[in-house]
Amino acid sequence: MSYYKTGKDFAKAQDKNDQLAHFRNQFHIPKDEHGKDLIYMTGNSLGLQPKITKDYINEELEDWANLGVEGHTEGKNPWLHYHEFLTETMAEIVGAKPLEVVVMNSLTANLHLMMVSFYQPTAKRYKILIEADAFPSDKYAVESQLRHHGYDDNEGLILWESREDEELANYEDLETILEKQGDEIALIMIGGVNYYTGQFFDLKRIAELGHKHGCIVGFDCAHGAGNVQLNLHNSGADFAVWCTYKYLNSGPGSLSGAFVHERHARRKDLNRFTGWWSHNKETRFRMRDEFDQLPGAEGWQLSNPPILSMAAIRASLDVFKDAGFDKLCLKSKSLTGYFEFLINQLNNSDIKIITPSNPEERGCQLSIQVKNADKSLHKKLTDTGIITDWREPDVIRCAPVPLYNSFIDIYEFVERLKNVL
Ligand SMILES: *Cc1c(COP(=O)(O)O)cnc(C)c1O
Repeated sequence: MSYYKTGKDFAKAQDKNDQLAHFRNQFHIPKDEHGKDLIYMTGNSLGLQPKITKDYINEELEDWANLGVEGHTEGKNPWLHYHEFLTETMAEIVGAKPLEVVVMNSLTANLHLMMVSFYQPTAKRYKILIEADAFPSDKYAVESQLRHHGYDDNEGLILWESREDEELANYEDLETILEKQGDEIALIMIGGVNYYTGQFFDLKRIAELGHKHGCIVGFDCAHGAGNVQLNLHNSGADFAVWCTYKYLNSGPGSLSGAFVHERHARRKDLNRFTGWWSHNKETRFRMRDEFDQLPGAEGWQLSNPPILSMAAIRASLDVFKDAGFDKLCLKSKSLTGYFEFLINQLNNSDIKIITPSNPEERGCQLSIQVKNADKSLHKKLTDTGIITDWREPDVIRCAPVPLYNSFIDIYEFVERLKNVL
């Protein structure tokens, strides 16, 4: 017997009892041409805009208008320290210590900066292991790092592939790869939550396994941050990066987060690229000082950051703080569980959910494979007022986000999917 029930009344009752339901009103929900809310299922791609974001950005525009350069020190939220306003909440969301976290640059740029420090190939150990269906940008980035160090990117790249006729990566296969080639692998770089299947990897298990074989282990958590409990510190990972425009609702192209484990916080031997923002805050503006590296993740910053984009992150993090990330994760499990239940109730043999059915191995996203379908199915769904994401050849990715999606959204989605099929 399932806790979930079919029928619209169940969805309505769930929404009514949902302590977090009112947060939906704090977001701008995209509408159709008649002004009716669209069913937005693509928070995994671009999160929706909190209504307070405009005020947070306007505040900085005002300070800039009124104070000019003085805003760096005299602004309501002095720009000089602006990134620090983000650190604590961001650290909480990714399960890290504030020392381990910084918001800076864009995601792929941060991935490269991390690899400058944490991909240190030697003649014997130079290969990089990634998951087979890695996000293309990550794959391009690691390949270019191999080439940058003079290695062949084909020969130097090891893929953790899923088995024939299986969608998900299997840990035993990872163990086998490491037993055979572990001493050749310098870096393991995995997407913490795979963008395609929605599989949430056991970061701790991968980090322990990698470290046992002498590899450095990093994660790209773009699909995990703000979606699942990453517990980055306890995972023991060496580094991680993520973006803030997906589940962290901070606007298109917004800045990225980076994590460097505490054990590396004060290392001077790690090679890194530096700039004045990696330099000691006390003496940064004496301009002539010899380089004095900031401890922790802040020591990887290069530039003074774009404040307007950071203001949007700050607004979003305040919404998360208000709601409580633990509570959001609980609601997320129940939303996605309900979604899975309704899809399974369709009893349609052409439909297969490729995302893990174990709630601990996924976030809110379900990737639904529709056999013999093509992009016209996606078009038909879109015409019914649903925004989802289509991945070739036959997968619809849907992410009900606990901050702004409702049980009714899911009910409606499945009803319309049924009709379209
Ligand atoms: C979204 C995403 C990216 C995008 O990278 P940008 O540098 O922000 O354009 C990269 N990697 C992963 C895993 C992603 O999910």
